[in-house]
Amino acid sequence: MASILPFAEKGNWYKGNLHCHSTVSDGLLSPEELVKLYKNNGYNFLVISDHEVYTDFTNLNQDSFIVLPGVEYSVTKYGPNNERLQTYHINGILGTAEMQKKARRPLLKHMEVLPALDWNGQKAAQEMIDFLLDSGHICTLNHPLWSRTELEDLNELEGYFAMEIFNYGCELESHTGITTLYWDSLLKRGKKIWAVASDDNHNVLKDSCGGWVCVNARELSHDAIIEGLLSGRFYSSTGPEIYDYGLINGEVFIECSPVNVIHFVATDELNSGFSQWGEGNSLTKARFRLKGNEKYIRVECVDLYGKIAWTNPIFLK
Ligand SMILES: [Zn+2]
Ligand SMILES: [Zn+2]
Repeated sequence: MASILPFAEKGNWYKGNLHCHSTVSDGLLSPEELVKLYKNNGYNFLVISDHEVYTDFTNLNQDSFIVLPGVEYSVTKYGPNNERLQTYHINGILGTAEMQKKARRPLLKHMEVLPALDWNGQKAAQEMIDFLLDSGHICTLNHPLWSRTELEDLNELEGYFAMEIFNYGCELESHTGITTLYWDSLLKRGKKIWAVASDDNHNVLKDSCGGWVCVNARELSHDAIIEGLLSGRFYSSTGPEIYDYGLINGEVFIECSPVNVIHFVATDELNSGFSQWGEGNSLTKARFRLKGNEKYIRVECVDLYGKIAWTNPIFLK
């Protein structure tokens, strides 16, 4: 079996938050304040993704910190008393220069308001994704549990590169931020999607710096970060760090900051997968020999405080 080494380029690690709200929509902090907050906390990039308003705050870029233009697009099903029954929220993040050149419709302009859509279940979600892809973006499917999504609501949805499996804001608000079950269920059905952790901060709650991605890239530039995201050369975290990960000669390996348990997740058959437990936060590496029937394998590193780092899957069949 060939080796698969997602981080073999030995690029640098760049930390970023892919989902964040400013005073342009319902966030408390201005774009300038957000850039300062994340830069001061050791981040290298930020997607300002305000509700239905596309923004480009690249004028706030600084040494070792860049803003990626973006938007959070949504469509909602309302009940008879105007209560929100279900929703889809999709982040659009501006793609590479090449993707922008190939866009099938005009690129979005700073402060452009996105067209309102009628609720039409999965079709409306697909319409949003197609609109964003056609205007040169990459897409994430945000907080499916908070959105009251059922698995069948995701059956036919295509075109998003990652599911938000940890949303700090939703987790703080109502314990609806962790959605690895949805992710595994889609992976089992053969969908090839990555996962991201993010803040979705509005700064009403203390919802900054709780979930992020670390991208392995050759440099800190818009294109290099987008390429790293699309190719899965990143991990998601609420605390632990991952230093290396891959597959060599049928064995999956991981190296990380000290954690309490390392889970190798392969849910294809009963008793697939494996958990390596340490004594307190003592584990910094683990290995797992594949049994041979796995469709995919992914790793979670969990520390004593319950903070988690998630790798992306390695697809095996
Ligand atoms: Zn949302
Ligand atoms: Zn949001």
